[in-house]
Amino acid sequence: YLKLQSVRKMFGNSCVLDDVDLEIREGELVTLLGPSGCGKSTLLRCIAGLTELDGGRIVLENKDLAKLPPRNREVGMVFQSYALFPNLSVSQNIEYGMKMRGLSKTARRNRCEELLAMVDLEAKRDDYPQSLSGGQQQRVALARSLAVQPKVLLLDEPLSALDAKIRKNLRTEIRDIQKRLNMTTVFVTHDQEEALILSDRICIMNGGRIVQDGSPEGLYTAPRTEFVARFMGSYN
Ligand code: ATP
Ligand code: MG
Repeated sequence: YLKLQSVRKMFGNSCVLDDVDLEIREGELVTLLGPSGCGKSTLLRCIAGLTELDGGRIVLENKDLAKLPPRNREVGMVFQSYALFPNLSVSQNIEYGMKMRGLSKTARRNRCEELLAMVDLEAKRDDYPQSLSGGQQQRVALARSLAVQPKVLLLDEPLSALDAKIRKNLRTEIRDIQKRLNMTTVFVTHDQEEALILSDRICIMNGGRIVQDGSPEGLYTAPRTEFVARFMGSYN
């Protein structure tokens, strides 16, 4: 469904993504797990078209994404810091992408209500981002990214700025929504527990490469390299 082939990204002389290969099935939630600086966000940015590749290909449903500008890629992204538009209300934030695509007011309103219900924020539709909690803001960001019905959802540490309790609630919520929509998702975290609980599959990254790719159980019980063993083992 989503295929990355020998994806390479350089910043100056340093190779931040070193021939990354990855295939994701429709409806699958794949987690990229790895230490700070290993290239997780860069990989998501390449898929979203926020940064250009220096080599390789990214193919979504047989379409080469390099040929499409970011807004036509049918990829939604949620960032670690909320990145909502501060001067727009919750519903205006959610409707923004739909407006850009020329959806009618009625269509936008209906879709927005559906999304507000999904993230349980109907009561906040006219509030502004700064009056919302971190968890609420991330739910708005999630609704906004899903508004235009992307084929792939990219989540870049969407929970890491939140308190432990809210983080646990929201991760279950995200997983429920992802399953309900059968949404193909790439989830980035450096939290092993989060990865083990949420994922269909986990890719451990280190130094711009995927060093192991497997089921949550498989990675935990049969680490293939010392790096993976140490990284997974630091979770207890
Ligand atoms: P974290 O867990 O801290 O978010 P990450 O795995 O997401 O880390 P990236 O943000 O992908 O890591 O960065 C990977 C490497 O690329 C880092 O060494 C970073 O310094 C470098 N890098 C990222 N963006 C740029 C840029 N625009 N210019 C130069 N170097 C960059
Ligand atoms: Mg990052």
